[in-house]
Formats: sequence, structure tokens, C-alpha cells
Amino acid sequence: MRPAQALIDLDALRHNYRVARGTASHAMAIVKADAYGHGAVECARALEPEAEAFGVAAIEEALALREAGIVRPILLLEGFFEADELPLIERHDLWCAIASEWQLAALERYAPKRPLRIWLKMDSGMHRLGLPPAEFADAWQRLQRLPWVRDAVAMTHFANADDVADAYTREQIAAFDAACAGLDIGVRSLANSAGLLAWPDARRDWVRPGLMLYGASPFVGPEPSADALRPVMSLRSRVIAVRELEAGEPIGYGGTFITPKSMRIGVVAMGYADGYPQRAPEGTPVAVDGHASRIVGRVSMDMLTIDLSALPDAGVGSEVELWGTQVPLADVVRHCGTSAYTLLSGLKRVERKYVSADALR
Ligand SMILES: *Cc1c(COP(=O)(O)O)cnc(C)c1O
Repeated sequence: MRPAQALIDLDALRHNYRVARGTASHAMAIVKADAYGHGAVECARALEPEAEAFGVAAIEEALALREAGIVRPILLLEGFFEADELPLIERHDLWCAIASEWQLAALERYAPKRPLRIWLKMDSGMHRLGLPPAEFADAWQRLQRLPWVRDAVAMTHFANADDVADAYTREQIAAFDAACAGLDIGVRSLANSAGLLAWPDARRDWVRPGLMLYGASPFVGPEPSADALRPVMSLRSRVIAVRELEAGEPIGYGGTFITPKSMRIGVVAMGYADGYPQRAPEGTPVAVDGHASRIVGRVSMDMLTIDLSALPDAGVGSEVELWGTQVPLADVVRHCGTSAYTLLSGLKRVERKYVSADALR
């Protein structure tokens, strides 16, 4: 069997959830995009005893969780895409965001037999989804007139909370509070991972951690509030061939790397078809049997090449970590000019295996 695997430590996931839960009265675990590449059903099952609710991007994701037996509340973060999802939302007792006027109008036309929990979303400055602040009060009052809307939540989402030096988050909080003033709002929700970690004023009733659950820091630079997180995934494979090359030999497609001296090169079963970044430059860190090494040559679809010159004990079968407990994901992010979100949610083809923390050392 091809040795490429994503090892996943569900204890670390639970630990990270508790970090988020400790910041606010309620914490919803965001498991959209297959739990950022970690397996939504497995992650939701692991969290269900303590997570109070889950958040997903679409009803398909919510129904997959219900089919797997998840009974906790599930919020559709973008609401419905078509009004005919409303009967399913009702039948499966989902929580639903309302983020556009057309959704609100469709909701008003629908007459459910059971109460629905609605999260009314305001665009406090990100300018993606949500009702403009000037329209929020009217929309909130329209919701209150619907007898079957229960415990409505006022929510918003941050654009720049991952940059702790950017005052825009403070402006978004102020815009949200100003538009909520005078309304009878019982429950508020503002913060994603970066918001709840770095912006204490954003920790209102429900926080919505996503990325941090998986142990990755959402921040652009170092940020102590993210230090308590534990990596959940270790992306691993093995050396499948070793080449001893003289100086002056090109490696891989395009021959972009030419050996400056004689070198020992390892070929690893991991490529961009697995979601490893194709553009990972020379020098991107990896670990071989726990020792630091680096990528040389271009990443190809199924394989990549690493420098084993300083690791005489490494050879065919040596274990390689691409990111995880030995190679911080943030280091790969920095080398590749990408984000932790992109790397984790972009994984494919690699087998996922749920393991104990000991297996990740
Ligand atoms: C994805 C998402 C989150 C989680 O964001 P992270 O940055 O991963 O913590 C929270 N709220 C909403 C509305 C989202 O779409």
C-alpha cells in the first residue's frame, strides 16, 4: 500500500476545543469542508460529548452528520441556497443562518410546524454575506414577528481578525454593536478562531472556532494565545527510493535543482495530487525519522524529492513527516506562501488514520 497517510489525533482535537470553550459561554465546533480535511464525521463523533453544536457550510454537510448519528444542533453558516431546503432544515432540526434579504423573505413565506433557531447575520465590514447594518434592525424585527422563530442569534464575521495589529476588527465590533443597539437581542456571536483568541471583546455568547480546533494558528505572525493548541494532523509518508548523485545533476521535472555537490536524494511518496503544494520551494522543511531535512527539486504529482545527504541512516522505508508534530504546519505555510486553511482543506487521496497522541511523537 502507498504509505501516504494523514494521522489524526482526536485527543488533540478535544483539547483544542476545550481551549476555545474556555473563552466564552458557548462554543460551536466548525466542521465544514470535511472538518478542514480531518474527516467531519469522525471529528464530530469525537467532539459530540462536549461540543454544544457544530457549524457547516451547506445542508449536504449537515445531513451527512445526521446520517452518521450526530444529534447535536448543527448550524448552516450560510443558510440555505434554495428555499426548498427549508423542509429538510425543519425535519432535521438544523439551525439556520439568514444572511440575505431573499433568504429572509423565503423564511417569512415558509410556515414550519416546529420552532426554528435562526442566526441573523450582519455584514459589519467584510462585505461578503450578511445584511447591511442599516437594514439589520428592520430584519431583526421581522424575525421577531415570526411566531416560530426561537432564540434568534445576532451574528457577524471578521475579515482581518488574524492580523492582531489591524484595527479593522475593532471597527467591525463597533459597527455590529451600533447596529444592535436598542434591539432586544439575547444572544450574540462574532468570533472565529482568530477573533476568540486575540480579541477578547469579540468573545460574545457563542464563539465559532474552526481552524484552531485542528491545532493550526490562524495568525499571520507569532501569537501567544495560539501556543496552547496541539496539532491534530501529522501528514506522513515514506522514502521509496534513494539516489546517490554526483555534483551537477538535475533533479525532477524541469531540472530546476542541480546538485551543487555530490548528494544523497530521497524520493518520497507524496505529491501535489495529495494536496501537498506544488509550488513548495527548495528548502521547505520535512522531517525524516524525526530529523530535519528539506525539499529539493520540483514537487511532482505523486512524489517529491528531499536531501538525505546529512542523514546517512535514512533510506528506503524511512518515515517522512510533511507537517504535523515535528514540522510545524506554520513553517510549511511560510515557505509556500499559502495558508493553513488551504493546506488542510486541500488534502486528498491520502488515507486518514485516527491514532493516539503517542503515535504522533
Ligand atoms: C468558517 C467559519 C468560521 C470558522 O473560522 P476559522 O477562522 O476557521 O475559525 C466561523 N464562522 C463562520 C461564519 C465561518 O464561515
